Amino acid sequence: MPELSNINVVKEILGRHGFKFSKSLGQNFIVNPDLCPRIAEESGVGPGICALEIGPGIGVLTKELALRAEKVLSIEIDKALLPVLKETLGEFDNVTILNADVLELDLKAVIKEHFGDMPFVVCANLPYYITSPIIMKLLEENIGAENLTVMVQKEAAVRIAAKPGTRDCGAISAAINYYSEPEKLFDVSKGNFVPPPNVTSAVIRLVLRKEPPVKVEDEGRFFRVIKASFSQRRKTLTNSLSSGLGKGKEEILAALEQCGLGPNARAEELSLEDFAALTKILG
Ligand code: SAM
Repeated sequence: MPELSNINVVKEILGRHGFKFSKSLGQNFIVNPDLCPRIAEESGVGPGICALEIGPGIGVLTKELALRAEKVLSIEIDKALLPVLKETLGEFDNVTILNADVLELDLKAVIKEHFGDMPFVVCANLPYYITSPIIMKLLEENIGAENLTVMVQKEAAVRIAAKPGTRDCGAISAAINYYSEPEKLFDVSKGNFVPPPNVTSAVIRLVLRKEPPVKVEDEGRFFRVIKASFSQRRKTLTNSLSSGLGKGKEEILAALEQCGLGPNARAEELSLEDFAALTKILG
């Protein structure tokens, strides 16, 4: 089995297949032999547990998942990588590569088809240009994963792992904390990839909640209020909510007061309970 984390091996295989890296598909492949085993271990995958991967690239993380998991389903958008993966993962009979755009897939259906009722994790070095849409799709579609253990840009990791009520919290942090308990695991510097990305990366783990932390009658309205709250960071919460929800300032101020929040409250100071209470009144 070729050493897929060795930069010379990667170049030789890709060169032989005439493969050219695509910047627009976020193709930065891992070339550190210790990194993929560590990410796979952090995902908790093992016998009786399956793994869903997004973007296998040359298969360096896929291989580590295949060595540990019951089954691996890996979704790759780039057709040019299919013959490469056939070669690099040829020895594994528990790996399926699906050529598709993850954002277009009916994930629940393909997961059911490949994993049946077996427990599974999501483990991936995500394409950075669509980190948030992928994570939100995985969370919102309620696919039933145990956790998402993924590599993202460090900046995105800080935002994703921020707790509501803290300075780094944004609309995405609030949504992520509603669906999961996020945790930043470790940073990964640029030199661990070929070609190196422009930014430092980080591995995060989102453990899916069995029950949401707050009771919300209408999730659509709840997320509308959260989005509106964070929509204009330089404006006050009152102004952001007023323009985002199309309601008068008086109504917003009264709602804030009813929730025990002052007129100068800032979105990043609010807890999920505060957003739920505001949604009840304003949604
Ligand atoms: N897992 C490999 C590694 O760590 O070396 C490659 C990771 S690379 C950061 C991202 C991978 O996602 C690439 O293989 C890229 O072609 C693939 N990709 C990009 N957009 C995608 C999409 N919409 N759906 C599925 N795969 C995608």
